[in-house]
Amino acid sequence: GRSARLPQRRVTAVQLPLGPDRSLVTVGNIGALRAPYNYIAMVPQRDLLNLLADEARLEPSFSLRMSTEATSFLMERGRVTGVRYRTSDGRTGELRATLTVACDGRGSSARSLPELRLRKFTCPMDAWWFRLPRHESDPRGLVGGIGDRFLTVVIDRGEYWQCAALIPKGSDGRRRAAGLDRFIADFTAAVPWLADRPHALRSWDEVKLLDVRLDRLRRWHRPGLLCIGDAAHAMSPVFGIGINLAVEDAVAAARYLVGPLREGTVGLRDVRAVQRRRWPTAALTQALQRIAHARVVEPVLAGRPPFGDPRRARRITDLLTTSPWLNRVPAYFFAYGAVREHPPTASVR
Ligand SMILES: Cc1cc2nc3c(=O)[nH]c(=O)nc-3n(C[C@H](O)[C@H](O)[C@H](O)COP(=O)(O)OP(=O)(O)OC[C@H]3O[C@@H](n4cnc5c(N)ncnc54)[C@H](O)[C@@H]3O)c2cc1C
Repeated sequence: GRSARLPQRRVTAVQLPLGPDRSLVTVGNIGALRAPYNYIAMVPQRDLLNLLADEARLEPSFSLRMSTEATSFLMERGRVTGVRYRTSDGRTGELRATLTVACDGRGSSARSLPELRLRKFTCPMDAWWFRLPRHESDPRGLVGGIGDRFLTVVIDRGEYWQCAALIPKGSDGRRRAAGLDRFIADFTAAVPWLADRPHALRSWDEVKLLDVRLDRLRRWHRPGLLCIGDAAHAMSPVFGIGINLAVEDAVAAARYLVGPLREGTVGLRDVRAVQRRRWPTAALTQALQRIAHARVVEPVLAGRPPFGDPRRARRITDLLTTSPWLNRVPAYFFAYGAVREHPPTASVR
């Protein structure tokens, strides 16, 4: 389809520095999955969003309002009946709907509705986010690095590396005060093959702080409202699959709700069915992220070896890399999540 024609970089492997002397080991061999879904297409976000908007516009009843912020819910007799909105030029209005889907991320206003009850998990890190130039001779794909009290992931975006450095939560100010040169030294120790270019980073202004959160609503719905994606379950960057989950939630919601929406009768039972379908995947993925936080992120950021013992880390890596079947599990998980979602037949063109 059109997605294959977007400018893209195809990633077929996820690598971590878990080998002898921190050599890179492939822990997710996506290329081994069955074609045509045997790669991650890294595409510019703008192109992907434009593609989604263009395809959606082919639906006769679809309309997209850009630069329009939902400011509050419309309520009638305890039911959400739409939203109030404000445009970037200050106009305000109301939009009414049979069902309002909150897919507005972890800052969603739906999360403040008390009956949805937000459950927060402790999260040991925040992320610094910056770019470095990429050379053709560099490794390809997603590459992780472990340094002294420091974890990094670099994402192959073709001409540049999108770099994420995980730092202990709340340590941004202190670390910045230690100076950019200190950070560059720490970073190159973690990713030695990038040591020839961190000076492309000229000031702290090029390093953004991203707040990392991990939490989940106990209920994703109330009459007239359904939360999906980060609005229902804010994901950590660990494994890089939060976007997959958000898209899978939307696909599952479409499949469960297409019938009731056509009949104009979306009941609590229908939205409950979406949560019942998606909750296990979100809960399992967040449980794995919490294990990774506790066993890898937290110890490394505190200056201890991951998994508490280098030999145990080695055994786990050996198991993942030597067994062709176990090697496919992380790849399958990166590609499809815990449960594979299929779109409703009516939406497949
Ligand atoms: C540091 C960091 C790095 C990450 N890296 C990755 C990664 O590499 N890969 C990955 O898969 N996941 C990653 N994640 C997780 C991922 O970002 C989320 O899980 C994913 O973006 C959730 O998608 P979403 O559509 O639910 O929400 P979002 O992507 O947050 O999208 C919400 C949208 O709603 C809009 N919006 C918000 N409020 C309103 C409003 N009031 N009215 C109208 N619109 C509104 C926003 O502008 C935004 O466009 C990372 C997370 C963090 C914190």
